[in-house]
This record gives sequence, structure tokens and C-alpha cells, in this order.
Amino acid sequence: MKLSIHIFWFRRDLRLDDNCGLLHALKSDKKVLPLFIFDEEILNKLPKDDARVSFIHQQLEHINNQLTAIGSSLAIYHGKPIEVYNSLLEKYNIDTVFTNHDYEPYANKRDLEIKDFLASENIQFKTYKDQVIFERNEIVKKDGTPYKVYTPYSKKWLEAFHFKGIQFFPSEENLENFIQNKNHPFLTLEEVGFTESAIKVESFKVSTKLIDAYEETRNYPAKNSTSRLGTHLRFGTVSVRKMVDKGSKSNNITFLKELIWREFFMQILWHFPQTNKDSFKPKYDRILWINNEKNFDAWCKGETGYPLVDAGMRELNKTGFMHNRVRMLVGSFLCKHLLIDWRWGEAYFAEKLHDYEQSSNIGNWQWVAGCGVDAAPYFRIFNPTTQIQKFDKNLEYIKKWAPDFQELTYPTPIVEHKFARERCLKIYKEALQ
Ligand code: FAD
Repeated sequence: MKLSIHIFWFRRDLRLDDNCGLLHALKSDKKVLPLFIFDEEILNKLPKDDARVSFIHQQLEHINNQLTAIGSSLAIYHGKPIEVYNSLLEKYNIDTVFTNHDYEPYANKRDLEIKDFLASENIQFKTYKDQVIFERNEIVKKDGTPYKVYTPYSKKWLEAFHFKGIQFFPSEENLENFIQNKNHPFLTLEEVGFTESAIKVESFKVSTKLIDAYEETRNYPAKNSTSRLGTHLRFGTVSVRKMVDKGSKSNNITFLKELIWREFFMQILWHFPQTNKDSFKPKYDRILWINNEKNFDAWCKGETGYPLVDAGMRELNKTGFMHNRVRMLVGSFLCKHLLIDWRWGEAYFAEKLHDYEQSSNIGNWQWVAGCGVDAAPYFRIFNPTTQIQKFDKNLEYIKKWAPDFQELTYPTPIVEHKFARERCLKIYKEALQ
């Protein structure tokens, strides 16, 4: 006879503690099978040594070790989720699949299909809010429409947060309800078709000291004083509630406000899913981008002849990370100095960034290009040389990532600043008339 079970499906919540959907599964009336699916629709698009896949696998090993210590284990499958569920039906009598919401357009579509499929087999599909404090329609204007400007959104967010407080979900206290079986299939990275990446994801550091000093230090890339939380929030290896709790306890809430930017952009992509391709402000899609491939290649490689831009791109290529200040500069340089479509830069970042998050990446790229919600005005064009004076005046960051910047072999600037600035203003103005 088939065992009657519930499933908890891990996706972007790779942890056993403070996991909302997991707590609901573990508190229910049946034993729980912990499941992870390497979705081939997603994996097929990635290079075989993608650092994010190695990171995910490493986190799954970590969860599996915690589970085997209590007599259970994580089941890992590889394929299309519907096919995996179909095969699980041969082994188990599944009552309910529990999971946490995933808001991205692809995930949304996938989950609707899974829900329909499971319903056709009389299986319930229950999903919970876990990766944000406020989602979708929770922070909207009085008339129910979404905010398109960050400041009033963040004000309302903070009001709601102070009113409601944080509710934690101590899933870690209920782990005995997992199925007792140490032999669920646990695929290796190679069995999923990948190899270990040479680049590692950095751990995060969120201390009271870092949060208190954040406002003062965050703009200086050489200080390495930001939290490195991005990747961990992306894959849910840390609970956002715990991080927001820490951020809200500081007298300085600048760090907390950055976490609110993350939710701001998430609700924007949720309400305006077309912005994953279209500019939020349609007029900007009339800009006549030059899209010179040679220049794009130089930008990608960090060979533009502008040391701070090059240092940023080389940091990205070598580590999968780039400091926010430098992301803003390289983004502006691509769209405004080189007049290359923001979508090209967005796609390159999506391939390289460990903390790649569709909503934040699109939101920030549209911000630098000027075409997004609450974006930088188009005539604000960062000067790649004076930015050094402001943010890396001792050249520490540049010396670290572009140490050849004073050598004869270092490229001459691929475009002259004053010329590029005027050309950009002219082309933007023509499009926006
Ligand atoms: P910290 O400075 O320590 O901030 C803490 C957290 O707050 C971050 O991890 C992130 O979750 C959130 N946060 C901070 N700034 C922003 C912001 N501007 N927008 C949204 N969330 C923010 N962030 C991503 O998480 N994924 C992306 O794909 C991404 N692409 C970007 C592309 C461009 C062109 C630009 C200018 C910024 C992008 N950002 C992105 C925002 C920001 O650069 C990163 O979140 C930050 O640099 C990550 O480093 P950290 O974790 O040390 O951040």
C-alpha cells in the first residue's frame, strides 16, 4: 500500500528555520516528504559551471545533513516539475503539496500549471508568503492601485510594519514530522549535468555594527562594508524576517530601507509583468540605441578605458558580485555613454550576478536608463572620472580590480565623455519629445 504523505517543495527558501510554508506542512496531520526539483526549464539556460547552481547544491547538502541527523533525508529530482510529481504519484499517496510563493513571471505560470495538475489528481496545492514582509497588494495606495514611487511606498511599508510587527515561523522546532527515511534520492551536481564552479558565493555578514555604520560606509566600494545578503535572500538561505528584524532595531534605518527597495521592485514586477521586456515608461522604447557590439564587448570585459567602470566589470566577471555604487555607474555608462539598450546590460548581469533577482535587476536597470518607475532623470549622466573622486579617491578599489589602469597596455577610453554626454542628451531628447 502507498504511504499517505504531504510534500514540502523547497524552491527559493533553502533553509529549515523560520520557513512559513514548511512550518504549515510540518504542523499538519501527515508525515512530510522534503522535496527539491532541479527544474530543467531553468537549468537548460545556464552554463554548466554556474556558481549559483553549485551554491544551491551546497545548500541542499547542508539541509540533507541536518535531516539525516534526525533520521530523514531530502529527496532531489531533476526534470520538469509536472513529470516529477507524476512519478512521485506512483510511490506515494500525496495529500497536499506545501510550498512558498514565488512571484516571478515564469514561476507564476509554472505554479498555475502545477496547481491544475495536482487538482486533477485531487491533491491540494498550498502556498505561503515567505520571501518578503509585504507582497503583491499588501502595500498599495488608498485607491488600491500600486505605488510607482519608492518614498511613499516605503513610508506606508514602515507604517504597516510598525503596526503589525513580525511574525516568525519556527519550522525548526517541528522537524520530527519529516518522513523517517534516510535514503531518498539525493542527486550529485554531476548527475544534474553540472560541475562545481571555481567561483564561490560569499557568506553574508549582518552585524549590528555593519547596520549602524551602513549609511556612512555603503557608498565606498573599497570598504567592502555591505551585507552580501543578496544571494542569500534570493535563494532563501536566510530568513528575510530575521534580517528585517535586525535592520529595524538599529537607530539608523538606511539598511532596512534597502530591504524595502527589494520589496518595492518585487511588487512592481508583480503588477507590471510586461516590464521584464518593456520599459515602464513606453516613450523610452523609442530611443534609437546604437547597440555597437564591439563597445558592448569592451564593456563586458572591463576594457572601456574608464578605470572605475572597468574595475566594476572585472569584479563582476571574477566574483559574481559588484558593489552597488559601481553597478549604478557601469549601468549608466552602458545606456548613456555607449547608448546600448538597457536590456543588453540586464541580460549580462542576469548571467553573471550571484544575487541576480529578476525584479531588482530589471528595476535597477530601468532606473539607470531612466525608463523605469521612479527612475533617475535621463539628463543625470554619471561622469565616470569624477565618480572616482567621490567614491574611490584613494584608488583602492581600482587598484584591486583594474591594477593595469596606469600601464601603457591599458585601453584608451572607447568614447570621449563630453561627446558621449551630449550625444546621449540629444538622442534621449529626440525620443522623448
Ligand atoms: P546591501 O547594500 O548590504 O543591501 C542589503 C540588501 O538590500 C541587498 O542584499 C538587497 O536585497 C537589498 N537592496 C539593496 N539595494 C537595493 C536596490 N537598489 N534594489 C533592490 N534591492 C536592494 N540587487 C539584487 O538583489 N539583484 C540584482 O539582480 C540586482 N541588480 C542590480 C542591477 C543594477 C544595474 C543596479 C544599479 C543594482 C542592482 N541591484 C540588484 C541592487 C544592489 O546593487 C544590490 O542589491 C546590492 O549591491 C547587493 O549587495 P549587498 O547584498 O551587499 O547589499
